[in-house]
Amino acid sequence: MQEQLKPILEIQEYDMKMIRLSRVKKERQTELKQIEDLRRDLKGQFEEKDKEIVTLNEEIEGQEKKIEEINAKYKKLEEQQSAVKKVDEFNALTQEMTQTERERIAVEQKVSDLVDKRTGEEELLTKIKESFVTSEESSLALEKEIRDSIRLINEEGQKLKKERDKLAQTANPEILRLYERLLVNKKDRVVVAIENRTCSGCHIALTAQHENLVRKGTHLVFCEHCSRIHHWPEEREEVEGAAPRRRRRRPASA
Ligand SMILES: [Zn+2]
Repeated sequence: MQEQLKPILEIQEYDMKMIRLSRVKKERQTELKQIEDLRRDLKGQFEEKDKEIVTLNEEIEGQEKKIEEINAKYKKLEEQQSAVKKVDEFNALTQEMTQTERERIAVEQKVSDLVDKRTGEEELLTKIKESFVTSEESSLALEKEIRDSIRLINEEGQKLKKERDKLAQTANPEILRLYERLLVNKKDRVVVAIENRTCSGCHIALTAQHENLVRKGTHLVFCEHCSRIHHWPEEREEVEGAAPRRRRRRPASA
């Protein structure tokens, strides 16, 4: 069993590298999306301001037309006044002219306010445009860097996968299938060593019986806590001579 786990352990290292790569790739893709969102946001702000200015222009135009109408009305009243003979008619027209004059002053004030508002909006528009251009310049360089790194990640991933697939052909298909199923669940190492009679996957202590089963290696042994496959680390196999003594000591202390 130890022999059969060897290729799986190698495959596992490839898989870990590939998982790490895909995490980095995802991070970089998120960065790209953030840059795109920022650009879209600025563009949206720009378009909105632009629309506001168009509306203001229309309003100003409408008010200016009103002033023209008022002026025409005033002129007509003036003409009427120069034609009247009666004092009370003259006075009535004077009153109406004063009223018209007031009306014009009010509209002119409104136009002046609207023009001020437009100036403010135009300044804002310029600022948005500037930050759009600046961020466009810096983000283009950053975007290129991110896209390049994603390309490299893809290349590296393909290389790893090729090697991994080659190794997979040497592995026991049944163990490989089991391993892959566990990997999909854990996205982490699933064939793990026993260290100090503890599962190095979930760090929960194991029984001596469990450890012995793994060391014997006649069949696959799964961690009863995290379902990972246990293996006995190779370097400890080499000091096999020391093991029986350790084993004899343990029941005494139990
Ligand atoms: Zn475990």
